[in-house]
Amino acid sequence: MREVANVCSNHGMGSGFRWGGQQVLDDGVGDAPALPGLRGVLRSVRTPEFADTVFHEVEAKSVLNRVPGESAMPFRWTVNPYRGCSHACSYCFARNTHTYLGLDAGADFDGQIVVKVNVARVLERELRSPRWAREPVAMGTNTDPYQRAEGRYRLMPGVISALAGSGTPFSVLSKGTVLARDLPQLASAAGEVPVSLGVSIALLDRALQARLEPGTPSPAARLDLVKRITDAGLYCGVMVAPVLPLLTDSAEALDALFGRIAAAGASGATVLALHLRPGAREWFHAWLAREHPHLVEPYARLYRRGAYVDPEYRRALAERVRPLLRRHGLERGVGMLRTPAASRPDPPAPAAEQLTLL
Ligand code: SF4
Repeated sequence: MREVANVCSNHGMGSGFRWGGQQVLDDGVGDAPALPGLRGVLRSVRTPEFADTVFHEVEAKSVLNRVPGESAMPFRWTVNPYRGCSHACSYCFARNTHTYLGLDAGADFDGQIVVKVNVARVLERELRSPRWAREPVAMGTNTDPYQRAEGRYRLMPGVISALAGSGTPFSVLSKGTVLARDLPQLASAAGEVPVSLGVSIALLDRALQARLEPGTPSPAARLDLVKRITDAGLYCGVMVAPVLPLLTDSAEALDALFGRIAAAGASGATVLALHLRPGAREWFHAWLAREHPHLVEPYARLYRRGAYVDPEYRRALAERVRPLLRRHGLERGVGMLRTPAASRPDPPAPAAEQLTLL
């Protein structure tokens, strides 16, 4: 990367941001691209507000992604304004997708963030297609649209306005409290199209959360976000995921968490055990070996079949969770909008992408 120090500029992409004291590390006109696997890089910048993070601002050609046909996800379309995620969860499923850019699935995923600065404009264009059937679009399925960078880039207001304006229902799943900024707009969008919001909260233990998901807002801040969403009159479910075997899965811990979730006004909760896809698996195991070495062996046994936890463990967890969800009135689940089973003709499909849940 070529380095041009202390340049402050506004690239005029419609997002209207200006950062003081930022460094432009690559302005996109050099001989060698900064990221060989990524096209359309305008520039790569670092700013004092985000130590250890480089933002690669790109002009995306398409932003509406079709979910691969074989996916079990209940929706067929996603939009992700960012690639990589500064929330830095050690278990994140999406880590491996960063390797497609020539970056690694570990620290690069957390600190080399691709920003699709033209996401709203491209989305508007794609939604104008006469073949767009207004199926639900899910956000927060691969990286968090309300990660910290969104406070500066403000891409989501344009995305929400494009979706609502085109009559497209949508859902957002996030850990980011920046979402509260857009609540008035989301409430107004909900008057035009079905809107479903979900917040992801895996545990209450602040010390463990800070080690496990070092870039995320605290559990208390996320519970407060749930309350603000429901106070705004919007549906809000909570994704209790991942449940970590032998760390966060006791009946006492889950009962306490569900109690706080219900008190915050959530309409339902969905509980999922840790899933360790390649990419996430290596990174999480390194975390486990560092933080809880005595659990390396038990986890090796529980995940001996691969990405999914041992079926016996899953059954036992489900039995433990069911009455607790009932007791707190949370059986309704997180409530993602679903694509109707009788699907309509496909609109033109940009690249499919792998899906994760936060
Ligand atoms: S799990 Fe979600 S919030 Fe955490 S790093 Fe991955 S995309 Fe970001």
